[in-house]
Amino acid sequence: MVSLFKFRIIFVADKTFAYPMLILLKHPLLTHKLSQLRKKETTTKEFRETMEEIAGLMAYEVTNDLPLKNVIVETPLAKLQTRELDADIVLVPVLRAGLGMVDGITRLIPSARIGHIGIYRDHKTLEPLTYYTKFPGNLADALVMVLDPMLATGGSSGAAIQVLKENGARIIKLVCVVGAPEGVRKIEHDHPDVQIYLASLDEKLDDNGYILPGLGDAGDRLFGTS
Ligand code: URA
Repeated sequence: MVSLFKFRIIFVADKTFAYPMLILLKHPLLTHKLSQLRKKETTTKEFRETMEEIAGLMAYEVTNDLPLKNVIVETPLAKLQTRELDADIVLVPVLRAGLGMVDGITRLIPSARIGHIGIYRDHKTLEPLTYYTKFPGNLADALVMVLDPMLATGGSSGAAIQVLKENGARIIKLVCVVGAPEGVRKIEHDHPDVQIYLASLDEKLDDNGYILPGLGDAGDRLFGTS
């Protein structure tokens, strides 16, 4: 049967007032690039590059409360007291689509350390299961950014946050590109201390757990699989 959904134009409404931990980023460049990302004709190369750019633009906002320390530097003409970042930043992409966000952020924050977490959904129980973790040390003093482009049910992002907390992380921000209300609600319920960043809050999930209108399978589109 042809889905009627195909023929509806979806306007994504601003419902952020309902989600206290959600920060919906609306910079025009971000909105423009997300529209490119969504288009079905966007190639793998373009998708990968645009995802990196989006992640960089999002990181600019996500880091707007980072602490600074005073430093003295010398210009070719004089000495001055100025400020530099005073924060340990750890990026944790959720495999595999989260990998597509790493380079865009490390280009801006080259000192960021990187952990990895792999999670899959058990076919029988539908529960998220962690199959791989490797984190840098001393997560307790770091700002940990969990990178997961699609916040759908919230199952894998929530599981990643839980594992990071069990490994000592205390300040965690969840950085996704597109989210569904179901996922935002789950993270806010299970991890009320975690700030959620999105470039778009879309309408809903379909029966297979894909975000509508979304952009399809982010992992497949990033890596050219399907
Ligand atoms: N993961 C994706 O890649 N896309 C979705 O729409 C939902 C989960």
